[in-house]
Amino acid sequence: MPGLDAMSRIQTLESLKQYAKRRLPYEFLRKLDRDNEFPAAVLKEMYDPDVLGLHLLLIPEEYGGLGGSTFDIYRVCEALAHIDLGIATSVFATFLGADPLRVGGTKEQKQHWMNRIAEERLLVAYGATEPNAGSDLGALTTKAVHVVEDGKVVGYKITGNKQWISNGSVADLYTILARAPGGPSWFVIEKGTPGFKPNPHEDKHGIRLSDTAGLVLDEVFVPADRLIGGEEGLGLRQAQSVFGYTRVMVAAFGLGAGWEALETAIRYSQQRIQSGGPLSEKQGYMLKLIVPNAVRLEAARAHIEEVALRLDGGEEGLQTEGAVAKLSATEAGNRAAEDAIQALGGYGYTKDFPVEKIKRDVKITCIYEGTSEIMEMTIFRGRWREYMRSHGRCYEDLAVKMDGVHAACPNVGADSAALGLRALHRILEECRSQRLTHQQHVTMRLGAGIAQAETAAAFAHSAARDRYSETVRFDAETWRAMSRVYARETALDICHMGLKLVCGAGAGPAGLADALGLPAVVGKLAGSLADQDLIARKLSEVFPNR
Ligand SMILES: Cc1cc2nc3c(=O)[nH]c(=O)nc-3n(C[C@H](O)[C@H](O)[C@H](O)COP(=O)(O)OP(=O)(O)OC[C@H]3O[C@@H](n4cnc5c(N)ncnc54)[C@H](O)[C@@H]3O)c2cc1C
Repeated sequence: MPGLDAMSRIQTLESLKQYAKRRLPYEFLRKLDRDNEFPAAVLKEMYDPDVLGLHLLLIPEEYGGLGGSTFDIYRVCEALAHIDLGIATSVFATFLGADPLRVGGTKEQKQHWMNRIAEERLLVAYGATEPNAGSDLGALTTKAVHVVEDGKVVGYKITGNKQWISNGSVADLYTILARAPGGPSWFVIEKGTPGFKPNPHEDKHGIRLSDTAGLVLDEVFVPADRLIGGEEGLGLRQAQSVFGYTRVMVAAFGLGAGWEALETAIRYSQQRIQSGGPLSEKQGYMLKLIVPNAVRLEAARAHIEEVALRLDGGEEGLQTEGAVAKLSATEAGNRAAEDAIQALGGYGYTKDFPVEKIKRDVKITCIYEGTSEIMEMTIFRGRWREYMRSHGRCYEDLAVKMDGVHAACPNVGADSAALGLRALHRILEECRSQRLTHQQHVTMRLGAGIAQAETAAAFAHSAARDRYSETVRFDAETWRAMSRVYARETALDICHMGLKLVCGAGAGPAGLADALGLPAVVGKLAGSLADQDLIARKLSEVFPNR
């Protein structure tokens, strides 16, 4: 996917920043949050091509859009999350709502609807979830029955309920998943269609200014040409096919919101004097509340960028990789916001500082577009298939790649990343031979471990480059120290996880710790404290208190 050139992307991000400065000060966002109010005028402005025209990024050039690449969209999603996750969600809902058309629509459908979204700046909503079908979408009960005239299907009558739909009560256009006679299928429905009624906006814990509503469909008639792709039964496959891409967007939300909270804490730590000096100079404070979060977020960034660039390079699907990106980045963002409250003490717990709101907002990224637990299951399933197909070679192969990175660049922690991957390989083998993968807890912990090991490999690979991406705000010395810290922790976490799982099942063979390479992993820990001290110093330099 070609996407924007670097200059246009940077201009778009700068315009967004300036717009937010002018139009979305914290006091304004705070009031919307308090009043549970959706800022319709802001969204319309953001879609106005003379102001920002953000929605045009998702629309291919041939349909009047800008044809943004996955990398462009990741950058914009991260920037939006820095501003406000509720607004980011509303924009995302349009992207997501248009996806069934973008990937599954016929040529005529794309021509018609994409052009309309571009020109009329339509707000779109994506209607998949139901009261009794959330993580398990296959359980959906919304039905689309044939309307037949002269022996020909001329349309459908759709009946059912949708739940938690972003932009649900404010959208102009909806894509709705319903069970047709041929199987789950997507349909396009315009607002105001008889029988179609949104419920009121929900009163939520966070992203309160993002409209979320249930939808009631009572024999809503749609003509046959509203069946996306013109063929029944493709709905779940169409939804699945974009998960790689859409989960990168939500990962970017976790990254942006997490960094916004952490930057606030880093700046605050320089002005807050306790026990005779600024908190930023207290080692225990920085190495507990700040540094680990910066490391986790930058590790997640490296992985997100790897997936975005692979998707832009033409690789299809990448659902497992998207799940790894989402799990790593959203859990890191959530944790960073939690620690930012702690870092600000009593001030963090008030609404005067934005971290309290960010913490409430960012939690949603661990829930929507697939919960963290569903991500763990997805990652395990995807990688287990590959593991079995490769007769257990896939992680040894990746470890060999890391050996190569370490040989070329010995200071990015690729040696620890390789040890973590080899330990993972050994644990998977133990779990296979002892049939532990029949236990759901084991598979979910393995999914989380796989995500961490692959993220560490992506970070080491990225940190070893001669030139860094436009997104990296640290010098090579700092970014490499971050990669080393993440890789060491990962190798240790994986050994720990393996021992807990295998020994916990009463199946640990003698010498398992040695077989996992634990002594070698421990041997790599030297220097970790010095690396964290360096990162702490550099964070204060990169984010000075203004
Ligand atoms: C603010 C908001 C906006 C949303 N926007 C949209 C939208 O625009 N469009 C849309 O279609 N949906 C949307 N959603 C729905 C969202 O994607 C779902 O809430 C999410 O997928 C989880 O489904 P659920 O709420 O039914 O929870 P459940 O699936 O019931 O899950 C409850 C808990 O059980 C766990 N769990 C579920 N299944 C299993 C299992 N098999 N094994 C172990 N643990 C399991 C989950 O991880 C979770 O912790 C939104 C939700 C919210 C809250």
